[in-house]
Amino acid sequence: MNQVEYISYGGGTPSLALIILNIKGEIKPITGRKKVDEIIFSDTGWEKRKTIEQLELHKEYVEKHGLKMSIVKSDLGNLDKQTINAINSTEKNSTDKFVHIPFFKFNDLESSEYYGTPTMQRRQCTNHFKIKPINDYLRNKYGKIGHIAQLGIHIDEIHRVKDARNKKDTNRYPLVDLNLTRQDCINIVKESGLPVLPKSGCVGCPFMNSKVFINMANNKKDDDFDRAVAVDEEIRKIGGYVWREMKPLKTLRENIQSQMFNLDDDLDDGCDSGYCFI
Ligand code: SF4
Repeated sequence: MNQVEYISYGGGTPSLALIILNIKGEIKPITGRKKVDEIIFSDTGWEKRKTIEQLELHKEYVEKHGLKMSIVKSDLGNLDKQTINAINSTEKNSTDKFVHIPFFKFNDLESSEYYGTPTMQRRQCTNHFKIKPINDYLRNKYGKIGHIAQLGIHIDEIHRVKDARNKKDTNRYPLVDLNLTRQDCINIVKESGLPVLPKSGCVGCPFMNSKVFINMANNKKDDDFDRAVAVDEEIRKIGGYVWREMKPLKTLRENIQSQMFNLDDDLDDGCDSGYCFI
């Protein structure tokens, strides 16, 4: 084997549709083998409860069809705990004092034309908590061979299509090749009999728009919103916010009615890596 082909499963509807189409033989691996070698979910440890709840069901589903799903994690641990530890660490030699989440902060560089405006910080989490764990897992298992990744990006988000960073690797976008929209993906999942999933991604991801945070704040059935608030509270110790409105996230639940208007409901930049699916 000189290349391994895998489906990067993000826990959302498009990547589930990608799995279903592989199972049905409507998408074929370019390795020439009958099926993909792996389906891999990289768990940041800060995922939505619903995403994790559904994992077992999807694992059973793919195994029933002769495929294997592996769950991998960063050696830095859970993204929320790592962030809290990094902010509170007083140890000079702490192995990881870096905040990987791309939180928002008012620009405090007086010489900058953006002085005083909200600025998103550098995003490192996708690489360390999504991409690297998959690459480490594949390297350990298959050695130093090229990786072909099937990514669940659909035609509505074609701007996220990108070449792989490493020349040896290949990114494939079969849903785009098939001209499938998000609605098409929903229909494929419905037809398979599996439940349609909410958008995946970390509970406090700064790429999420206000509408998603409002829905989470309204939902008291799980602790997703509380887990997002816990990290936001810590990030504010370093002058940051996870919510692009530059307000403490907890105020959303406190003032849920008055927050319903004049927010960035239509903004949905998303993480453009194709790995976070947000
Ligand atoms: S979903 Fe957001 S917070 Fe989570 S790894 Fe991706 S970019 Fe980072």
